[in-house]
Amino acid sequence: MENGKDTSTSSFLSTPIEYLKGVGPQRADTLKKQMQIFIFEDLLYLFPFRYIDRTRFYPVKQLHADLPYVQMKGQILSFQSVGQGRTKRLTAKFGDDTGQVDLVWFQGVKWIQEKLRKNETYILFGKPSLYKNTLNIAHPELETLDEFKNSPAGTLQAVYPSTELMKRKGLDSKGIWKLQRNLFEQIRGHIPENLPAAVRSAYHFPSREEAFRSIHFPENAEECSKAQKRLKFEELFFIQLRLLKIKTQRSLENKGIVFGHVGELFHTFYKEHLPFSLTEAQKRVIREIRQDMGSGHQMNRLLQGDVGSGKTMVALLSMLIALDNGYQAALMAPTEILAIQHANTLHRQLESMGIQTALLTGSTRKKARTEILAGIADGSIRILIGTHALLEDPVVFQKLGLVVIDEQHRFGVAQRAKLWQKGNHPPHILVMTATPIPRTLAMTLYGDLDTSVIDELPPGRKPIKTTHRYDSSRLAVFGFIRDEIAKGRQVYIVYPLIQESETQDYKDLEDGFESIQKAFPLPTYRVSIVHGKMKPADKDMEMQRFAKGETQIMVATTVIEVGVDVPNASVMVIESAERFGLSQLHQLRGRVGRGAEHSYCILMTGNKLSEDARTRIKTMVGTQDGFKVAQVDLELRGPGDLSGTQQSGMPTLKIADLVKDQNILEHARQWAGKILADDPNLATPAHQSTAEALRHHEKRNPNWSMIS
Ligand code: ADP
Ligand code: MG
Repeated sequence: MENGKDTSTSSFLSTPIEYLKGVGPQRADTLKKQMQIFIFEDLLYLFPFRYIDRTRFYPVKQLHADLPYVQMKGQILSFQSVGQGRTKRLTAKFGDDTGQVDLVWFQGVKWIQEKLRKNETYILFGKPSLYKNTLNIAHPELETLDEFKNSPAGTLQAVYPSTELMKRKGLDSKGIWKLQRNLFEQIRGHIPENLPAAVRSAYHFPSREEAFRSIHFPENAEECSKAQKRLKFEELFFIQLRLLKIKTQRSLENKGIVFGHVGELFHTFYKEHLPFSLTEAQKRVIREIRQDMGSGHQMNRLLQGDVGSGKTMVALLSMLIALDNGYQAALMAPTEILAIQHANTLHRQLESMGIQTALLTGSTRKKARTEILAGIADGSIRILIGTHALLEDPVVFQKLGLVVIDEQHRFGVAQRAKLWQKGNHPPHILVMTATPIPRTLAMTLYGDLDTSVIDELPPGRKPIKTTHRYDSSRLAVFGFIRDEIAKGRQVYIVYPLIQESETQDYKDLEDGFESIQKAFPLPTYRVSIVHGKMKPADKDMEMQRFAKGETQIMVATTVIEVGVDVPNASVMVIESAERFGLSQLHQLRGRVGRGAEHSYCILMTGNKLSEDARTRIKTMVGTQDGFKVAQVDLELRGPGDLSGTQQSGMPTLKIADLVKDQNILEHARQWAGKILADDPNLATPAHQSTAEALRHHEKRNPNWSMIS
């Protein structure tokens, strides 16, 4: 270790798993392949996913078939082997003071018969069920009182995840439990504390070693839940500590460009060109941004707002502040379509003020590119709009002051970091999300940023009527579309495209396009199509035709998911809606409801729907609030599978849950912040073990903030 302080302790936890008693080369291989368990520490962090209560004994009399696994104490009163060959089985009567119950074995009969002794007291563990109207327990676990002392019986018994292959190697839940036992014998006294004493005492947390013991071998429920709380806190705390350390470090090292004043461009635009009055929420957010950019610290801010809440205008006004202070600004979008659209909007709004803007994407031609690069370098181009080609390209700004990243899920902490290396003075950064994300997720994925929220939609928005229709009623839906078009409206019909490379998806799209063209024939109807395989110029042309009203129907993939703005479009039909995630559905729905009196979102599905799909559809039909949709999305997908988390490489949470543990997360973040405020480099003796654990965390999860 670079500081030479890595004690034998954590290296002990790094011992390869094959050195654990009970794990030979074969089992080690299985553990590695099936569970990614390579070292002692990995096994320690293999947490039980539930517990079986073995602290109490059931009186036999109270058994009934609806009970889960139960534990009893009594004697084998008799046994008998019945049947022949394949039907051969062993039955026994088990009784305590209160009554008797039948036991039955279909396998391993001979072995069991030899092992069992009549009238010896056993602890029985099994699941009662009804067979031919008689209660029995098949294949119960039986332990003598001696064995009982050495097993999870009498405590809460941890249940561990396992796989078929593991079970074949004796690594079922019980097998893993035994390994944990062996592990604990070997590592007792070697599990270092990693939370500061102040934190431990504030919550009366057990020591780290105690917590690990209690989570694997809890004596009772209370002890177990204390251990869980501590380990959850710990998990979230180190993530927050890392994020906030990045944040603290940045603000210590980076002197922000000071945008000291709001000048002429901003005021002129505000007075003469603003097409509407800002909502209170927009005003508040712009104040927050202004304050950041004037503070002398580099701004790193996340702007959240529902679809259509007017984030673009906030971006524009912020960029004008940069220009007013003699700096350039850049706006980065995730797709080319969106970049083009932003470029058009900004050009339209700023041209008359003499502000030169330019669009730079992967498909900008060489000649134009050369000119644009020159314009950026000499400062004549004041605002550059583009995709993340902006990051990759040898784009050199004369004086870059602000970067706005729009509608992104794709930039992680590390990619954002690239941005502020573009110049001696790192530009201010404003990140805007496409749809709201739940607070717990924001704190984790964007935990290194400050947050602003636009919690108000522009006035005059009409609610979007959302309905669910089965494929069988497509004709009726087409009829409805004709009526809307007759009123002068336009319609989107969106097909799923989960993987850009999935040929089947394109086939669906192309078949769909054909059948739409048949159902909506020329010359009355004109249909556009846009998808990811088209050349950017063709895509743009089709988008423009639709935007100008030259076509009435836009058949598309999710390339139109983000940001596209055609106010006259009033119907969004989503085909195979069950294949979309919630935030995608919400984002798509947001394409309508921007102008017309009445807008509609029609979710088309097949008849067979999974329970999750049903919940997604029901949520969409039931609410239009992006924050609610985001919360359900998080709940459905669970902590392991959150949107953007894989891309951002966030460490998978092993015990904490971003849905259920919001409270713990808030506390963990507060503490992380407080500790760094007092001791930004974690240099004091009180924080030494925490600093060490943080280094360990960074070493173990080196890529968590990188993007795939
Ligand atoms: P999003 O937050 O989804 O990016 P946009 O910035 O695209 O939303 O805004 C959606 C639409 O609302 C645009 O047509 C925009 O011009 C309009 N808009 C934004 N702010 C206001 C406002 N304060 N009053 C009226 N319309 C607004
Ligand atoms: Mg937008």
